[in-house]
Amino acid sequence: MYGGYDWAPYVPVAQRLLNARRAMQQRAKQGHVIDPVCIKGRAIACTPWGKAWCSNLEGYSDFDNRLPRGRRYARNGSVVDLQVTPGLIEAYVAGSDTYRTTISVGSVPKKQWQAICADCAGGIASLLELLRGKIDKAIMQRLCRQGDGLFPTPQQLRFSCSCPDGAAMCKHIAAALYGVGSRFDSKPELLFLLRDVDLDELIDSAGSGFTTVAASGDGAVLSDEEIGDIFGIELDDGSVPSPSPLVAAKRSAKRSPKADAKSGARKPVPQANGRDPYVRLHRQLAKAGSLTSAEAQRILHLSAAELRPLFKRLIVEEKATVSGKARGTTYHIRRD
Ligand SMILES: [Zn+2]
Repeated sequence: MYGGYDWAPYVPVAQRLLNARRAMQQRAKQGHVIDPVCIKGRAIACTPWGKAWCSNLEGYSDFDNRLPRGRRYARNGSVVDLQVTPGLIEAYVAGSDTYRTTISVGSVPKKQWQAICADCAGGIASLLELLRGKIDKAIMQRLCRQGDGLFPTPQQLRFSCSCPDGAAMCKHIAAALYGVGSRFDSKPELLFLLRDVDLDELIDSAGSGFTTVAASGDGAVLSDEEIGDIFGIELDDGSVPSPSPLVAAKRSAKRSPKADAKSGARKPVPQANGRDPYVRLHRQLAKAGSLTSAEAQRILHLSAAELRPLFKRLIVEEKATVSGKARGTTYHIRRD
């Protein structure tokens, strides 16, 4: 900040980025996990969900003036940290100084979410297909429909930035918004987390509830390649950080009938071993015995989206049972 003046001394881009990265190193030393937006090539986003997020933003004339500058900022690496949590986007963006921007995003209204689930009932075969965006065109269009789909309207967004331009959508906020589009490329599940909806309800409404299928003994799994494709991570590395539980659980998730037909063979469910972070997470939860998702999030420092597949795997392997519904759901974890 420059004492509230609406000018700032010129600082070359390379110096801005260097300053911002140093500021993030300081934050990392304080225990924050820094997650910068790195865009390779000209396209901000390449996958259906990332592209749909950006198209939604660009579809509102309210944002016409500011978005182009944000795009440039996002592309040149100015978004040095981006965090997506339920209802909130928080980013640090390199400018004349390193600015903190927050964008609060209203959750999908309950009735709207129910309507989305009802309209998509029977149309989504699996979580995998949903996250890949490889679903029926009409269903995708419904989910992305402006106004009553999954994406926020301008009225559902509240911006704040520490730069002198602060109140309106400044270029730092625009850069953060584009950064979110890029982030959805590698972590599409964050869209559902951000809008505070349970993507399982979307699948359940399609009549392919995970638990039912898994309980029937259908142990089909996804290949590492497929999982890596979706989540943009390398597998078979015991040191993989937080996405691992998500991946671990995906290994016991249901394969779509279409994918099965294509491969013609099923691979065995990988056994948990000492390198599998799932084992450690299971032990930590088992100590607590019974707990809600919110409690588990605090204990394991994972998001709801990252936890969900872990719980699913525990249920499939009969290491956990569930009681209650919706937000009152309690998980009872057995020790080995
Ligand atoms: Zn700003």
